[in-house]
Amino acid sequence: MPLEIAAVPCLADNYAWLAHDAATGATAVIDVPEAAPIIRALAAHGWHASHILITHHHDDHIAGVETLAAATGARVIGAAADAHRLPPLDEALSAGDQVRIGMDGGRVLAVPGHTLGHIAYHFPDSRAAFTADSLMACGCGRLFEGTAGQMWASLAQFLEMPSDTLICSGHEYTLANIRFALSVDPDNEALKRRAAAAKALRDAAQPTLPVTMAEEIATNPFLRAADPAFRAALGLGALDAAGAFAHLRSLKDRF
Ligand code: ZN
Ligand code: FE
Repeated sequence: MPLEIAAVPCLADNYAWLAHDAATGATAVIDVPEAAPIIRALAAHGWHASHILITHHHDDHIAGVETLAAATGARVIGAAADAHRLPPLDEALSAGDQVRIGMDGGRVLAVPGHTLGHIAYHFPDSRAAFTADSLMACGCGRLFEGTAGQMWASLAQFLEMPSDTLICSGHEYTLANIRFALSVDPDNEALKRRAAAAKALRDAAQPTLPVTMAEEIATNPFLRAADPAFRAALGLGALDAAGAFAHLRSLKDRF
């Protein structure tokens, strides 16, 4: 049975994610921007946190980890490479390592770019990927530590996943990301439909996440860097996918 997944709005525009295995009762919390809303959401579902999975060291993803761990006894898991700048870890993981939530097994992906130690968690049987500030809804994280080449290689891993994989990212940045996407891809009908759907969700105070990889591939300009026709339409026909990605990322930084 797939993990049951729920978004928990935190701070101004962050999401923590709950992933619950009904068969065993195991529940993972992916990132802890603050503990209180997560503790309330767990109680509302009747779930008990057994694992905390950290994606990267930024404060808006870890500030509540120690409080939540103390309140629940959950096992804290994060990147070995970032152990020196994460809350104390019970388990330190690297790319390719497995993480088990009840009956479901996930795989750790190294996704450097936003930070060098950023990891993502892919649960293939549940068709879910927890991507935080690597792949975001219609966008991707800013390059604070890594290079554009690193981020492109990180995003390319998601392109390998089945198109029904649900992308669970760390922020509600979708409307702003769509505004940028429309500036470089104004004739994309799927993107225009997405803009209307996302606005309707936000007007109803609903999250725009999670979102399928299929929708990301059709509308996320950073992933569309892989499409030669899109590159040609942007006048970037001479560049490869990584080069076009770097160009688009720098355009977004100045948008
Ligand atoms: Zn971050
Ligand atoms: Fe963040």
